[in-house]
Amino acid sequence: MFDKIYDNCDPTEKEISCQCGEVLIKMSHGRPRRVMECCCVDCYQHLEWASVMGGPKVPIVPTLSYWDNDVVVVRGEEHLRVVLLREDGRSKRTTATCCFSTLMVDHPGYSGVMFMLFEEACRIQDDVPDVPPTKTRPAESRIYFKDFDTSRGKLPEFGGDPSRVHQTCCPKYINGWNSKSSPTLENPSGEKIQSLFERIPQMILGLEEGKRILSRSDCPVGFE
Ligand SMILES: [Zn+2]
Ligand SMILES: [Zn+2]
Repeated sequence: MFDKIYDNCDPTEKEISCQCGEVLIKMSHGRPRRVMECCCVDCYQHLEWASVMGGPKVPIVPTLSYWDNDVVVVRGEEHLRVVLLREDGRSKRTTATCCFSTLMVDHPGYSGVMFMLFEEACRIQDDVPDVPPTKTRPAESRIYFKDFDTSRGKLPEFGGDPSRVHQTCCPKYINGWNSKSSPTLENPSGEKIQSLFERIPQMILGLEEGKRILSRSDCPVGFE
């Protein structure tokens, strides 16, 4: 269920926070199931939207990390919104209205056993103090390369195994990674993000698939 690349990551509890620190969350298991880079239009569009709303700078290729679904919101729940790109959007991306960081992301494909974080759009506690996560938990694959457009910027070279760069989704390298076959946590210490999402307001951005968001005027729906 975990890629061996991450065997040295500290498996104990880790903190996740928004960039400004108003929102603080703890996750019970600090070793990622896997880390990937994603070039897809939806990841990029959400991060562009959050950025024009005042959030973090959009990375040319976002890094996605996947974690066990067991969290405790320590503070700042009132800032959280669940954001969908469009009515039929399948990913639910938590956004903090204090600074437009993006926190936990859910997708039906994760089957409730894990959630995703954008490494560049929030703060995740280091595995080893002062060693960047790109060293301790490097991306093991790069996916949806077909969606990459050079207008995003100069493509950074993929630092991992070049055979793990894929035009669309990646093959299942890791036994048990498939969320449908992954065991759920035996002794959760917090809650699943689905129960959190039931309490926080949701908003649907109504964005056309693949449309670039370069300014607030590109967004039909804003935050009230
Ligand atoms: Zn914040
Ligand atoms: Zn993506």
